[in-house]
Amino acid sequence: MNKFCYMPWHAITLTGSGLVKPCCQFRGEAENVHLNPETSIVNLYNSKAIQDVREDFFVKDPTPGCSSCWEREEQIGHSRRIWFEDHFLEDLPHNFDYELKVENPQWIQADINLSNQCNLKCRMCGVWASHKWISDEETLFNMHQGNPYLREGLKEKRAKFEVSLERLASLIPHLANVRRIDFKGGEPMLAKNHIPFLEMLIDKGLNRQATLHYTTNGTFINNNIIEVLGQFKKVNISISIEGTDPLYSYIRGGPEFNTEDLRKNISKYKELKNVDIMFNVAMQAYNLINLKELHGLLKSLNSDKINSSGAFNCVVNAPDYLSPFVWPVELRKKIADELEQIDDFKHFSGQLKVFDFDQNLFNTFINFTRDLDKIRNEDYFGIYPELKKYI
Ligand code: SF4
Repeated sequence: MNKFCYMPWHAITLTGSGLVKPCCQFRGEAENVHLNPETSIVNLYNSKAIQDVREDFFVKDPTPGCSSCWEREEQIGHSRRIWFEDHFLEDLPHNFDYELKVENPQWIQADINLSNQCNLKCRMCGVWASHKWISDEETLFNMHQGNPYLREGLKEKRAKFEVSLERLASLIPHLANVRRIDFKGGEPMLAKNHIPFLEMLIDKGLNRQATLHYTTNGTFINNNIIEVLGQFKKVNISISIEGTDPLYSYIRGGPEFNTEDLRKNISKYKELKNVDIMFNVAMQAYNLINLKELHGLLKSLNSDKINSSGAFNCVVNAPDYLSPFVWPVELRKKIADELEQIDDFKHFSGQLKVFDFDQNLFNTFINFTRDLDKIRNEDYFGIYPELKKYI
């Protein structure tokens, strides 16, 4: 039987660059609110492409746009699809008609990304979630007179986006049953319409039922937002962290921030009574060598309000050349031997040993790293000279 996913009916994602999708991991065709100013978000949620995705779950193998879930289930035994079932199966309405068009959606989970404004430009990110990437993206594009790294080549996509208050207000009637709202990138703590949107939720009493979940880079604290968060049932702050110093600064896109700043900001969030703090590590080519050390750092931060378990549930597979599996098997096996002693890496370390090596993908990773290092005046192999022998 086909694997089924409930998210195309019971969840919505609005990305930082304005795409309307069934979930944050979906990579198939999606309509953009900024390119369709006259069309409502609900109509975009029922676009032909998304109806086709729904249909695929009934008639054939799931759509290629969902490949991220199938890949992650193979690589780490987890995916967004499984995550949704684990958290919300009991909240789904009974006798629901799984039609291709959802006339009056009542989302259980909503991923609302208010803008692509960010103060950082992490290596595995791009203009879709950080406007700070615009200039590097353009330089990469001009360097090659083309797009060898398959990044946002179109000029109109290399822009700063912000979802309007009117658009946000139009979501409210469809959130009456919402259990969880996620805010991700851009950096949610910087988004202009963030507080007004929280106030709309409070106005409808949704603050008493909805858990808010933030994925934040943790480097920017907005005291006004923190004050409003105190009125919600529960707030989860998931801090993105990809390495210990100095890799942390390298991946995050500049030397201005280090893990010490992060610790100070975590203390600020801890003052909220209704908060749980966790971590989100995007396991990728750059931090494969650092995962054991990072795991130790996160464990050392555990306390009554901080829980690092579940931090290593995300593996970068887009772009594919930044995947941790891109490295030669010899290195992967060496690292897997160290990681397999740690429960959090059991499945992942097994996969590290068996994945086929793809020379073209590895070359792309090395070229991308060198090009971006040149643009940013950084040096990955200066941090890890021991990796040079694998090039
Ligand atoms: S299968 Fe995965 S990618 Fe597809 S809609 Fe579900 S959660 Fe999203």
